[in-house]
Amino acid sequence: MKFEELELSGFGKYPKAKCKVTRPPGIFDLRELIKNNSITPRGLGRSYGDAAINEKGVVAESTLMNRFISFDENKGILKCEAGVTYKDILETFVLRGWFPPVTPGTKYVTMGGAIGSDVHGKNHHKVGSISSFIKSFNILTATGEIIECSRKKNSDLFWATVGGMGLTGFILDCEIQLKKISSPYIYNKAIKLKNLDILFNKIEELSDQYNYSVAWIDIVAAGSSYGRGVLLLGNNAELDELPEKLKKRSKAKYIEKKITVPFEIPFNTLNKFTISLFNAGFYTTARNGEDFQHYDKYFYPLDFILDWNHIYSKSGLIQYQLNVPLVKGKEAIDKVLKKVVSYGGGSFLAVIKKMGDQEGILSFPFKGYTLSMDFPVKKGTIEMCCELDKIVLEYGGRTYLTKDSILDEKTFKQMYNGIWEKWMEIKMKYDPKNKFTSNLGRRIGLCLF
Ligand SMILES: Cc1cc2nc3c(=O)[nH]c(=O)nc-3n(C[C@H](O)[C@H](O)[C@H](O)COP(=O)(O)OP(=O)(O)OC[C@H]3O[C@@H](n4cnc5c(N)ncnc54)[C@H](O)[C@@H]3O)c2cc1C
Repeated sequence: MKFEELELSGFGKYPKAKCKVTRPPGIFDLRELIKNNSITPRGLGRSYGDAAINEKGVVAESTLMNRFISFDENKGILKCEAGVTYKDILETFVLRGWFPPVTPGTKYVTMGGAIGSDVHGKNHHKVGSISSFIKSFNILTATGEIIECSRKKNSDLFWATVGGMGLTGFILDCEIQLKKISSPYIYNKAIKLKNLDILFNKIEELSDQYNYSVAWIDIVAAGSSYGRGVLLLGNNAELDELPEKLKKRSKAKYIEKKITVPFEIPFNTLNKFTISLFNAGFYTTARNGEDFQHYDKYFYPLDFILDWNHIYSKSGLIQYQLNVPLVKGKEAIDKVLKKVVSYGGGSFLAVIKKMGDQEGILSFPFKGYTLSMDFPVKKGTIEMCCELDKIVLEYGGRTYLTKDSILDEKTFKQMYNGIWEKWMEIKMKYDPKNKFTSNLGRRIGLCLF
C-alpha cells in the first residue's frame, strides 16, 4: 500500500499536523493496515478541527471506496460504500426523484464522515440527524472483523459509531433511506427580524411549520438592533407549485458556476471593520419575501466559492458551534454573543437554529438552540472560546466535536457528562487496545494513545 507524509488539517486549517496518509482501495488492505497500526478514518476532511488527523498513526482515507452498491427504486433505499459523497448522491438521484433526507451545509462530505459526525441539517428540529435515516452499516473493527450494525443488530456499536468520530472502527458501507421529492427546488421564505428577542419569538412561532428553518444573525449590530437577523424557512417544493419556467428546468441537469479563492491570503483580511461591513451589508440587502431556490443554492451556498476557507489566511479559523437546552437557551446565547463582542470579536456567519431530539450516544444535537460562529485564529481567539465554553457549561450545553479544535479533556467530559462514560464502555468492548485514534480523540480523552 502507498503511504504519503502530508501536512493535514481539517477545513478550518487549524490545527495542522504531519500525518502518514493512505487510501486503501478495499477491505483487504484496510485489514492489513489495522494489524500493525493505529488508524484514523478520514473522508474529505470537511470536519473543521483535528477529528480526521493523527500524527501518531495512519490516516486512512475512504475516497477510493466510493461505489454505489444497490438502490431500491421503489423504497428509495441506497446502499453505498463509505467514500460516496453527498455530491455523488445528489448528481445521481435528484433527477430520479430522491434526495438526501438530511444534509450538512456542504456536499463535499462522505457518507462515512456524515455518520462519524452524525451530521445535522436545516431540518433537525423535524427529523433529527443523518443517523435517523441510516438503516444499517458494516464496520471494520480493531480485530479485523466486519460487523453489521443496525438498530436491531449490534445496536451498541451502531449507537456508539454514529457521532463516534471514527473512534470505533472504519465504516465500510451503509444503507440509507433517501427522501422522495417531486422537484429539485425548495420553497424559501425570508423574514427580516429587528433584534434578538423578535428573532427568538419568530423561531418559536414558525419553525415547526416548516421542514427547514435556520436564522442568520448579525452579531455586530448594537443598541436596539442587537441580534437582528433573517429567518429562513423552507419546504421541498412540489412540481405543480413551481412557476412554468422552473417546472421545465426541474428535469434538466443543474450546471454549477463556481469561483475559487485560489490561494491563502497572506494577511488577515478579517477584522472588526470588514466583519461589521459584511454583516451590515447582508442584513441591509436581505429582503422579506418568498421564492423557489434550486437545492444547490439553498443548501450549499458556501460550495459556490471553492476553498473559501482561504480567506482566513494561513492561521485558519475556528468554527465554534454550541447547543444549549431550550430552557434559558436565549439567555445563554445572549451571554455568548455579548462575550464575543467584549473580546472585540465577530463572525462573518453566525447561525442560530432550533434543534430536535437525537439518539446517538456522542451525537452533538439535543432539543435546544444551536449557535455557530466562525472566528479567525489570532491572538485571543482561543482564550475567548474557552470563556464561551464556561457559559455553555453553565447552561448545560455542549459544543460540536466535528467543529472543535480547542476543548480540553476536563471540559469535554463535563459537557458530555454521563454520556462519554457510556460510550467508553462500548469503545473498550470493541477496541480495547485503542487501534482507532485521532488527535481529537487523544486531546479529549476518548482514546489513550
Ligand atoms: C462549509 C461546511 C458546512 C458544514 N455544515 C454542516 C452542517 O450544517 N451540519 C453538520 O452537522 N456538519 C456540517 N459541517 C461539518 C461536516 O459535515 C462534517 O465534519 C463531516 O463529518 C465531514 O465529512 P468528511 O467526509 O469530510 O469527513 P472527515 O472530516 O474526513 O471526518 C469526520 C469524522 O468522521 C470520521 N470518519 C470519516 N470517514 C469515516 C469512516 N469511513 N468510518 C468511520 N469514521 C469515519 C473521521 O474519523 C472524523 O472523526 C460542515 C462543514 C463545512 C466545511
